[in-house]
Amino acid sequence: MEEDNKLYDILGVERNASENEIKKQYRRLAKEYHPDKNPEAGDKFKEISYAYEILSDPKKRATYDQVGLKGMQEGAADGFGGDDLYSHLFAGGLFGGFGPFGSRRRNKGEDTVHPLKVSLEDFYNGKTAKLQLSKNIICAVCNGKGSKSGQVGKCRTCNGMGMKRTYHEIGSAISPCYECKGTGEYIDESDQCETCNGKKVCNECKILEVHVEKGMKENQKILFRGEGDQVPDIEPGDVVIVLQQKPHEKFQRNDDNLQVNQTISLTEALCGFTFVLRHLDGRDLVIRHPAGEVIKPGDMKMIVGEGMPRYKDPFEKGNLHICFSIKFPDSHFTTEENLKLLETIFPPRPEFVMPIGDNVEQVDLHDFEPNDKSNETKRGCSYASDDEDGAHGPGIQCATQ
Ligand SMILES: [Zn+2]
Ligand SMILES: [Zn+2]
Repeated sequence: MEEDNKLYDILGVERNASENEIKKQYRRLAKEYHPDKNPEAGDKFKEISYAYEILSDPKKRATYDQVGLKGMQEGAADGFGGDDLYSHLFAGGLFGGFGPFGSRRRNKGEDTVHPLKVSLEDFYNGKTAKLQLSKNIICAVCNGKGSKSGQVGKCRTCNGMGMKRTYHEIGSAISPCYECKGTGEYIDESDQCETCNGKKVCNECKILEVHVEKGMKENQKILFRGEGDQVPDIEPGDVVIVLQQKPHEKFQRNDDNLQVNQTISLTEALCGFTFVLRHLDGRDLVIRHPAGEVIKPGDMKMIVGEGMPRYKDPFEKGNLHICFSIKFPDSHFTTEENLKLLETIFPPRPEFVMPIGDNVEQVDLHDFEPNDKSNETKRGCSYASDDEDGAHGPGIQCATQ
């Protein structure tokens, strides 16, 4: 394994430095980089404190010499690391990962992700939605220092490190300091900024104007750069608006196409029809179909160019699909004479020949009742057996609205 000298480098001592040298050098650096004197060097000070914590303890120093920081991060040493907070210290926090030590510090805050429910009409026509957002901003009174004096002291519990080692029966672990919540800082109560109560940030309500453009889609993201929570010394994250489509009672969207389910009567299916469909922009589409061109249950037709507008190219549109269900007339809708007349109009029925022999039995046909156990023998019937509502429609049917 490559030798890891980072902690020695931080203190500016040789790998074989004596305990005394380490102590002396730590005192010199701690004085120089103390946040009271050198507020800009907060992280440098934390690094120095951390290096000293390891190197001043013979046992930890031996572990570090053996496995290096990375090994310690991976929990190679007993009771050392293996917990998320500890790795966070390395990954995103104090040491900012590996590479040039401490130079790749996390410098951007978390993104704020916010869902926004949008109606299909708004996806079709476009809309500017106003969204009220609550966010933290740097306190303008203390400029994010948290104190009236502009001075920030060192947390006494963790010695300014922000992390604290706690000892258990089975070992020890490092976790953020409870007292200072991991900041490593201490502000005397009398010196706390009265506007933010020493928290450095205040809450603010902000209205964001979200431009939902024509043709945008479910799960599309709209970015507001730098509008996330502000934290001192960190570039604020972004606000990410994620669009979600509210279900529509009539139209379903499939990419750039739209679909509607239309129920027509048997008469219309056979003899043609005209009906009006109100589109998402309020236009009434008059849809005609000529007599004689039979529509069957589940047939699909389409209207070209009446689907959703294309994002960034809204004059181009997808298609509008229409899926037909046929409503058959109720029983006894007409007289027996008329039925006989109808039969002369429709294609002839297939010829019936009565089978001959002893093996012939006449049986009764009843309405299907799915909850009746005696019907189990009738499986294989074309009706969907999981249809508990018992919808009585034709076997092939569009999804109901
Ligand atoms: Zn303040
Ligand atoms: Zn602390």
